[in-house]
Amino acid sequence: MKKITCFVLMLAMLACIAPAALAEYTPGTYTAEAPGHEQGIVVTVTVDEAGITAVDLDLSNETESIGGAAKDALIEQIMAAQSADIDGVSGATETSTGVKLALTEALNAASGATGGEKQAVSDGTFSGTAPSFGLLGPLTAEVTLEGGKITDIKVVSETDSATGEWFASAEELLIPRIIESQSLAVDAITGATTSSNGIRNAVAAAIDAAGGNSMEWYAEVPKKDDKVVIEDYDVIVVGMGGSGVFSYCAAADQGASVFGIEAAGKIGGNSVCTYGPMALNSEYLKEKFTDGQDYINADDVYKVWMDYVESDEKADVIAEAVYNSGSALDYFVENFGFEFEGLGLLGSFVVPEWDKEWCVYSADDGNTSWNVLGPNKTFQFLRALDIANAKNEKNQYMTELTADSLIFDGAGKAIGVRATYYDGTTYEIYGKTIILATGGFLGNDEMMKEYLGATVNTIGDTVNKGAGIRMGQSAGGALYMIGTLPMVHISQVANLIRTDDLTADQKAILTALALTTDVPMITTAGEPWGNTNQSGTADEGISVEIVFAPDYMYYNLYTQADIDGIRETGLSEAQATATSMFLSQGGTLPEAGTPVADIDEILAVGERYGDVIKADSIAELAAAIGCDGATLSETLGGKEDTYYAVPCTSWAYGTVGGLDVDVNMNVLRADGTPIENLFAVGQDSEGVCNKDGKAYTPWGGQAQSWTFVSGEIAGKQAAALALAE
Ligand SMILES: Cc1cc2nc3c(=O)[nH]c(=O)nc-3n(C[C@H](O)[C@H](O)[C@H](O)COP(=O)(O)OP(=O)(O)OC[C@H]3O[C@@H](n4cnc5c(N)ncnc54)[C@H](O)[C@@H]3O)c2cc1C
Repeated sequence: MKKITCFVLMLAMLACIAPAALAEYTPGTYTAEAPGHEQGIVVTVTVDEAGITAVDLDLSNETESIGGAAKDALIEQIMAAQSADIDGVSGATETSTGVKLALTEALNAASGATGGEKQAVSDGTFSGTAPSFGLLGPLTAEVTLEGGKITDIKVVSETDSATGEWFASAEELLIPRIIESQSLAVDAITGATTSSNGIRNAVAAAIDAAGGNSMEWYAEVPKKDDKVVIEDYDVIVVGMGGSGVFSYCAAADQGASVFGIEAAGKIGGNSVCTYGPMALNSEYLKEKFTDGQDYINADDVYKVWMDYVESDEKADVIAEAVYNSGSALDYFVENFGFEFEGLGLLGSFVVPEWDKEWCVYSADDGNTSWNVLGPNKTFQFLRALDIANAKNEKNQYMTELTADSLIFDGAGKAIGVRATYYDGTTYEIYGKTIILATGGFLGNDEMMKEYLGATVNTIGDTVNKGAGIRMGQSAGGALYMIGTLPMVHISQVANLIRTDDLTADQKAILTALALTTDVPMITTAGEPWGNTNQSGTADEGISVEIVFAPDYMYYNLYTQADIDGIRETGLSEAQATATSMFLSQGGTLPEAGTPVADIDEILAVGERYGDVIKADSIAELAAAIGCDGATLSETLGGKEDTYYAVPCTSWAYGTVGGLDVDVNMNVLRADGTPIENLFAVGQDSEGVCNKDGKAYTPWGGQAQSWTFVSGEIAGKQAAALALAE
């Protein structure tokens, strides 16, 4: 049997379009790889002389609930088409394109198809549209082609930047790289993967509109194999989100030389998506908002916090988190120019009297440039880094540099960090102390399953794959409260429909069907779910209740009669007001009692995207959900019907538990001794403020506050240690 493994995308050389069905193949098994949403879709196809006899897809790098879930449908389409000329799966466009690319390459190898010219494209400017990160509509790019080459790409409409600050990094970095390489196989910009893939797919659509075949435009972009060694830093900061930037600044302020490593195309991480931090009795905020008066009883906060963790094991750390939350904010205001507004704009989720517990970052443009996730604030972090860099000309940070592992000396002491730049260059950066600030492990499916039992939908940064936590463990660091539940304040449908297969108003109805609380709910185990006060304490607040559901989701259940009722007499009062905080797709719900004539179309499209399960019996529903039929039957009182199950899923900001640290942010071994030159901050160590099995300290702004407090402490401690050497 012949087996050829062809790595990424020689399609420009191989020429061609998907081989026609029933091409002549050399029997054997052929494997090829292509990028989907992430890198590394692998297609393995087995052929005999006449056609495809089997195909296997490795989609393990793709998002499990979207690309991964499309696997069976894609295999079915390939076997039916006997070629790569398939429609793909709605909602999994990026995975579908990657599968088509890899399959094309494998079949070309099987049929012996060799190079040739690309299909000709006309000169001119052509428009292409593709789904992207934006919730409110797809992205459109205008692509200028001259003499068979891309000479210009302009994004002329997008809604990505309405949901955060990430789109700009995709636009600024990816477009020149596509033009320079004349290839769509350039890597997505880390941290802006969906926006990058949106741009890439819009350009592909424009190439097709110009008469070309975009599948031929994925020529391999070579990587470098250079190695760079950087030595003699006092402090290395791994991850330049909030806690990393604060650590970097605090270390620089002490006179240390600092090197920052950031995987994404820009700094800021989750921290630039937030509204703002908790800051108790900050002098700056008092002066600005309360005529110098204290605005909260910090002792109350400390008491509630200690009750929440049910242990005084980390009392000293929690005391820092409470009593120094205001002074840490003041430190960065005074020394690094941070600015805040809106003390009291947001009340505490938990204790109504704490009405001035957290504040909001000031935006630029006189506080006018807000998106749905809060004010634009990357500029504040960049400004702080400029101030820090002015303190020592050696100070520097690099973006698009992903830290891979720690470097140890012969005695097992961490002395540096190994990292990879986007162009393939590897870096070894050596320093006396290392601060881990990689923001937890939300983007790592294996760690999510290992520590939290299941993956969860993400609205937070998926660059955060637990690298810092794993590095800390490699140095002997222990974990603490790693089972604290993920940060969830948002529920939505399982798969946001980013195409125009439904109108915004229709999407709003689908969301309402998932979010309403006036219909029966069942868990993924087929048991009843209540959605209220699952935590056992009324204080947790409703927005976090879903995080207690098994697998962080449940199903809203409708019978055929319910759906007929919606078609004829409309949504109920509860349904007509069920909207998603932060993840609304912009539509308007009809008033209660207004017939929804297109409910069947909404459900049918929802079914295609994995947002609706339709089943004609309890057994069929149980099989689709993957639960025990007898359990589900008991839950449904044995009532056979046509059921519509609409998943309501958690959308998480991040994870919480991480490395064990002491009050100096020193990473601790299992025996409680500190690893002297290793520190962990932000979500890499936030378990020390929390409790396994509970929703994270949910009084508002605490997560972001911890980045200030832990960042200031770790930066100063690491610098002091390094400078004392
Ligand atoms: C939409 C949203 C809204 C939120 N709102 C609030 C709020 O209002 N108040 C609040 O308190 N909290 C809020 N949070 C939570 C809060 O943002 C986080 O808890 C906090 O910002 C985490 O900071 P961090 O430094 O640990 O992580 P991040 O800020 O995410 O920084 C981690 C950084 O590490 C980088 N990185 C990861 N892996 C590597 C690697 N291998 N090599 C190099 N770099 C790497 C990432 O790219 C990232 O820049 C919100 C979160 C989100 C997503």
